[in-house]
Amino acid sequence: MTHKPTCIAIANQKGGVGKTTTAINLATALAAVGHSVVLIDLDPQGNASTGLGIDRRTRETSVYDVLLGDATLAEAMVATRVPGLSVVPSTVDLSGAEVELVGVEQRLHRLKTAIDAMPAPDFTLIDCPPSLGMLTLNALVAANSLLVPLQCEFFALEGLSQLLGTVELVRSGPNPKLTVLGVVLTMVDRRNRLSDAVSKDVRAVMGTQVFETTIPRNVRLSEAPSHGLPALLYDMKCSGSVAYMALARELLARQTPPATRRAA
Ligand code: ADP
Ligand code: MG
Repeated sequence: MTHKPTCIAIANQKGGVGKTTTAINLATALAAVGHSVVLIDLDPQGNASTGLGIDRRTRETSVYDVLLGDATLAEAMVATRVPGLSVVPSTVDLSGAEVELVGVEQRLHRLKTAIDAMPAPDFTLIDCPPSLGMLTLNALVAANSLLVPLQCEFFALEGLSQLLGTVELVRSGPNPKLTVLGVVLTMVDRRNRLSDAVSKDVRAVMGTQVFETTIPRNVRLSEAPSHGLPALLYDMKCSGSVAYMALARELLARQTPPATRRAA
C-alpha cells in the first residue's frame, strides 16, 4: 500500500454541512485500513477535537500556537483512541487567529510551513471552519486536494461557485498544486424525493467530481461525538459508519493510478 502523502482540506464555507463529521469519520476509516493519519482541527469551535474525545481542559498546545509559530505540529499533536490517528486540537484562541494572522509575515503559509516540518503521515486531513477567511486559506495553501461536503438540501449548490472561485485564486497564486478531490453528498435521505432531485442536480453540474458514495442521514453519526468517539468505534455497523468506510475505499481507489488499480 504505497502512495504519496496526501493532504486534504475539508472545506465548505457553509456551516452544518457535515465537514467535521466527514473529517472525523474519514480519518478513522483511513486509519482503520492501516494508514497513518493526522487530523488538524482548524475550526475554533473545536468539534473535531471534542468528537475524538480530546477534553478541552487538556488542550495545552493547539493549532493556534502552531499558526503563530509558538509550537510545532508534532508538539501540538495528541493520540486518539483510534490506532494510527492523531489529532492537532483547536481551542477558542483560534477565533482570534483570523485577525491576528493578517499582520504576520507569510500569513497564508503558516500551516503549510508547519506541515512541511512534520514527518508526513499517509494522510493529513484539515477540518476547516465555516468561512473563507484566513484559516481556510491557510488550509487551501497547505493542501494538495480539497474535499467538499455538500448537504443534500435545496440550496446545496449555493456557495459552491464562490468556494471553487477561491480554489482558482489559490491555484493561480500560492498553491498551483491544489486539486479538487471531489464533492461528497452528506445527510442524504433516500426516501426523500428532494434529496434525490438535489443529488441528481449536483451530479449534473459537478459530474464525476461527485463521489459515488453518499453519506446517509444517520442518527448514530450525530450521537457518536457526544461520546467522544468516531462513529466507527461507537457503532461500526450503522449506515453512517459503513458509508464512511466506502468513502475511504473510493478515495483510495481515486488516488491509485489506473494501471496499479488493474494490477491490484
Ligand atoms: P460542519 O462541520 O460542516 O459544521 P457537522 O459535521 O458538525 O458540520 O454536522 C452538523 C450537524 O449535523 C452535527 O450535529 C452532526 O452531528 C450532524 N450530522 C452531520 N452529518 C450527519 C449525517 N450524515 N446524519 C445525521 N447527522 C449528521
Ligand atoms: Mg465543523
